[in-house]
Amino acid sequence: MNTTTKNILKNYVGGKWIEPQTTRYQAVPNPATDDLLAEVPLSVALDVDEAVEAAKEAFKTWSTTPVPKRARILFKFQQLLVDHWDELAKMITEENGKSYTEAYGEVQRGIECVEFAAGAPSLMMGKQLPDIATNMESGMYRYPVGVVGGITPFNFPMMVPCWMFPLAIAMGNTFVLKPSERTPLLANRLAELFREAGLPDGVLNIVHGAHDVVNRLLEHEDVPAISFVGSKPVAEYVYKTAAANGKRVQALAGAKNHTIVMPDADLDTAVKEVIGAAFGSAGERCMACSVVVAVGNTAEPLLQKLKQKADEIQIGNGLDEGVFLGPVIRKEHKERTEKYIETGIAEGAVLVRDGRKDAATHGDGYFLGPTIFDKVTPDMRIWKDEIFAPVLSVVRVGSLKEAIEVANQSEFGNGACLFTKDGSNVRYFREKIQAGMLGVNIGVPAPMAFFPFSGWKNSFFGDLHANGTDGVEFYTRRKMLTARW
Ligand code: NAD
Repeated sequence: MNTTTKNILKNYVGGKWIEPQTTRYQAVPNPATDDLLAEVPLSVALDVDEAVEAAKEAFKTWSTTPVPKRARILFKFQQLLVDHWDELAKMITEENGKSYTEAYGEVQRGIECVEFAAGAPSLMMGKQLPDIATNMESGMYRYPVGVVGGITPFNFPMMVPCWMFPLAIAMGNTFVLKPSERTPLLANRLAELFREAGLPDGVLNIVHGAHDVVNRLLEHEDVPAISFVGSKPVAEYVYKTAAANGKRVQALAGAKNHTIVMPDADLDTAVKEVIGAAFGSAGERCMACSVVVAVGNTAEPLLQKLKQKADEIQIGNGLDEGVFLGPVIRKEHKERTEKYIETGIAEGAVLVRDGRKDAATHGDGYFLGPTIFDKVTPDMRIWKDEIFAPVLSVVRVGSLKEAIEVANQSEFGNGACLFTKDGSNVRYFREKIQAGMLGVNIGVPAPMAFFPFSGWKNSFFGDLHANGTDGVEFYTRRKMLTARW
C-alpha cells in the first residue's frame, strides 16, 4: 500500500475548512488498489458542537430567506453538479470501488434530488380553508425545523447525502452532515460546489468521523431532527436514541431483497436484470437482489444462465473500460464475505459459482467474484443475514404463494421483484408481499427523488421516509392558524 498522503481531510464549519480538535485519523484506501487516498479525522464532540453552533447561527437568516431565492441557489448547484459530473463519478469510483458507469448513474440520482428540492416554492406551500365556520378561516403554514443532523453510509457517497441536505436546506433548515468515514471525500466536494452556487456560510457543515460524532449529534439539544441511512443495528440504535432525546428521526436500514422468477417470465430479461441487481456495485446496494426465488421448473435453466453470465463478468478497477464488478469496500469486508461463503457450504447450500477463486487475480484490491448458491433455505444464515457483497442465493419453491411466504419471513422489507408476463401474478405479488419498493420485470426498483424511499419492517425505523413528500414533511413543521374576522 502507498502509505503517505497529503490529503488530510478537514471539517467544513461556518463556510471554512478547519482542522478538528481530534488527534485521531483513519486511512481511506482506494479499495481497487489498496493505495491511500486520504486520511479522515475521527472528530470529537467539541467539533460537532462547533458545527451545530455555526448551523444554528446561519439558521437565523437562512430560515427567513425568501423561498424562491433559496431555490435559485439549488438551481445553480444543480448546474454545477452537471458540469462536474465526470469528476464526481471518478471520485465515487476511487473511494467506493463501484464501476464508473454505476458511479455516473449515482451522480444522476444525486442531481435528481437537487432538482426535486429546487421545487421548494411549490413544495412548501400550505393550505387554507376560508370558511370553516361563519366568518372563520383556517390556514396551514410550513416552516423549517432547525438544525438537521445527517449520517450516511459508505455505499452511495453522493446519492444518500443528496437524499438529505438539498431538500432540508431548500426547506430553510441548516445542516450538519457526517459522511461515512469509509467514503468521506465526495461530501467535501459537494460542499465546495454548493458554496460556489452561492450557499451562505454555515448552512451546510460537515463533521468527519464515526461513533463519537454520531453520538453527539443524537444528544445535542440544538439538533431537533436526524436523518440516518446505514445498517440495521445502527439504524435501530440511532432511531431509539434520537427519539429518546426528543428528536424526529428517519432511519433507513439494511435489506435482503428477494426476486421471484415465475415459469412464464422472459428468462433472458430476468437473468440480465438479476445479474445487474446482484453483482452491480459489488452487491453493496440496499436494493441489491440477494435472493432469487425460482418458481416451478425455472430453477435449472435460470441457474445455468446465471452462471454463464456471471462467468462473463469483467472484474477489476472500476475506472477501467468494460469493468462491471469492482472491489468490495474493505479487506475486512472481503474476509467477512469469505466467511459467509464457508458458512453457506457448511449449512448445506450448493455452491454453484465460487467468487473466491476470482479474487486472487487482482493485485492488492479487495476483489471477490460473483458467487452463487443454490438450494438455499430460510433456516440458513446466508439467507437470513445481509451479506452486502456479490453473493446471490437461489431458493427453489413450487408456487408464487410459497415464494412470497419465503420472502415475507425475512426481517427486512426494503425491496422485492417479480418476473412474469401474467397480470394476475403481479396483482397477487403487489398485495401480499411485505416490502416497500416493488419491481415488476426490473431488477433494482429504486424510486426516483419525487417519491418516498419506502422500506418496510427492519429496513426502516421511523414514520416519514426519505425523499418525495415524506421528505418535505420530515424537514418542515406546521403552524395552523384559525381566525375569526
Ligand atoms: P453502517 O451502519 O456501518 O454506517 C452508517 C453510518 O453510521 C456511518 O456514517 C457510520 O460512521 C455510522 N456508524 C456505524 N456504526 C456506528 C455505531 N455503532 N454508532 C454510531 N454510528 C455508527 O452502514 P454502512 O456499512 O456504511 O452502509 C451499508 C448499510 O447501509 C447496509 O446495511 C445497507 O443496506 C444500508 N443502506 C440502506 C439504505 C436504505 O435506503 N435503506 C440505503 C443505503 C444503504
